[in-house]
Amino acid sequence: RAKSDGRGTFRFFEPAMDLQMQTRRIMEQDLRKALPAGEFELHYQPVVNLASKEISGFEALIRWNHPTKGMISPAAFIPLAEEIGFIVPMGEWVLRKACATAAQWPDNFHVAVNISAIQFRSPGLIQVIVGALAASGLAPTRLEIEITESVLLHNKEATLALLHQLRALGIRIAMDDFGTGYSSLTYLQSFPFDKIKIDRSFVKNITENSSSLNIVRAVAALANGMGMTATAEGVETAEQLHSIASEGCTEMQGFLFSRPLPAAEIERQFLSGRGTRGAQGRII
Ligand code: C2E
Ligand code: MG
Ligand code: MG
Ligand code: MG
Repeated sequence: RAKSDGRGTFRFFEPAMDLQMQTRRIMEQDLRKALPAGEFELHYQPVVNLASKEISGFEALIRWNHPTKGMISPAAFIPLAEEIGFIVPMGEWVLRKACATAAQWPDNFHVAVNISAIQFRSPGLIQVIVGALAASGLAPTRLEIEITESVLLHNKEATLALLHQLRALGIRIAMDDFGTGYSSLTYLQSFPFDKIKIDRSFVKNITENSSSLNIVRAVAALANGMGMTATAEGVETAEQLHSIASEGCTEMQGFLFSRPLPAAEIERQFLSGRGTRGAQGRII
């Protein structure tokens, strides 16, 4: 309903704005309660080494088990969590949980944790990471931190210093969703990445679109040439697997191998030895 603002004009969008703001406020309150209420959960997706056909590790991916709305995917709450700063305590919980879980796995498996740009810039990130490693007993060499290109846009010197500090601890750094942001090739030269994850939008079109194939090939070659490994994200079909297989990617991840699964299911399917894929995590 349009409403007069008292000066002879009308504001037509107010009720809709109110509703949007109210929804947001409720979501914000729910988010803050979710941590103490234990509503967050981590799922883990296998990362497969192409040459050995074995699992090299797992990426931790957060899920929110909302009391009335059910399972909510991170795309639906991470932007708000970043906006209100909640990403910092949430991200600390993720680090602690992922390290504690991975410490129970055989030593040859790493765990990859996504760190948002806001969390990356928060003071004390190093202490949080060191704390999560110490509390879990996980070796730093088994932790991989995934950051996106947006991290690099802000305060280049401080970011570079932090990345070097992390690497000095033995932690590996992966550039996530490569090709979707704004970074230039010079970033790859100046930042110490161990791994480049090629965004799944390129993998998605690889069998229909020769430019996507060329991009995957070029990024993998670039990564390898700079001593980094390349991971293809979002591999869903055998055709995509076969297209990528000869393009220089070291690792792959995608629904073809496994969806992200709860820790107990990962243990049962891939790590138990009595599981369907064997103790070494052979998968393809
Ligand atoms: P991401 O880090 O690039 O993670 C990969 C996303 O692709 C995951 O979505 C995963 O489920 C999905 N995926 C994997 N294989 C396939 C496939 O073959 N096909 C398709 N269509 N999708 C595939 P998810 O779990 O919904 O996470 C979305 C994004 O949310 C993540 O993208 C990451 O940016 C963010 N995120 C997830 N967990 C966390 C977290 O703990 N902390 C932070 N800061 N961000 C997180
Ligand atoms: Mg990731
Ligand atoms: Mg990604
Ligand atoms: Mg992504």
